[in-house]
Amino acid sequence: MTPQVQGIGMTSQRTRGRMVSRLSDQGISNLAVLEVMRKTPRHLFVDEALASRAYDDAALPIGYNQTISQPYIVAKMTELLLEKGPLNKVLEIGTGCGYQTAVLAQLVGKVYTVERLLSLQRNARSHLYDLLIKNISYMHGDGTLGWADYAPYDGILVSAAPPEIPDMLLEQMAIGGVMVIPVGVAGGKQTLQRITRSVGDYKVETLAPVSFVPFLSGKE
Ligand code: SAH
Repeated sequence: MTPQVQGIGMTSQRTRGRMVSRLSDQGISNLAVLEVMRKTPRHLFVDEALASRAYDDAALPIGYNQTISQPYIVAKMTELLLEKGPLNKVLEIGTGCGYQTAVLAQLVGKVYTVERLLSLQRNARSHLYDLLIKNISYMHGDGTLGWADYAPYDGILVSAAPPEIPDMLLEQMAIGGVMVIPVGVAGGKQTLQRITRSVGDYKVETLAPVSFVPFLSGKE
């Protein structure tokens, strides 16, 4: 590993260990999720000027008015997605800086990730490439439409908040599939929801108040 990947001082393995202890104190109990977050160099996904804050429990700017989700949210969403068993195909909407993608890809068979902002996805792709994480397919597009070519998905994780769950995402869930998604208006009340699809039915669990950037249509 290069020194940059390994990190020093505030970006070191020890700092990541502290982050993981904090996550566990906050109630994250999936050991595989904690282990992956212990070894994934989150500082590489943020601007160098912010690297020393990469392991704080905070959302940080990643440019283009977007933020990298705080570690607790990444851990919680991943844990909720995986709770009912291992997943093979997972669709992620909102690649952002790619950190959530990196965590997911180390825990599931394959990640299909869609991002509407091309520049962000380009950066994410190069970071994930540097980390040799290869079980990811990328699409620059509007996540409102999901990614029909590879549907159905066992898991869908959305990291921007739409006012309502887009129909195409519900349609692209496999029977038995799980979706974790923040729902609500930007700046207003948003809740994290988990949807489980069964034959002819969708079960909705409303989990916790959250604050995500808005889910926007179109691509740039
Ligand atoms: N998991 C990412 C979160 C980034 S913020 C991270 O930790 O970095 C949410 C991302 O969703 C932003 O990059 C935003 O551009 C993207 N996004 C918002 N609406 C979208 C849509 N309709 N389709 C695809 N991506 C979308």
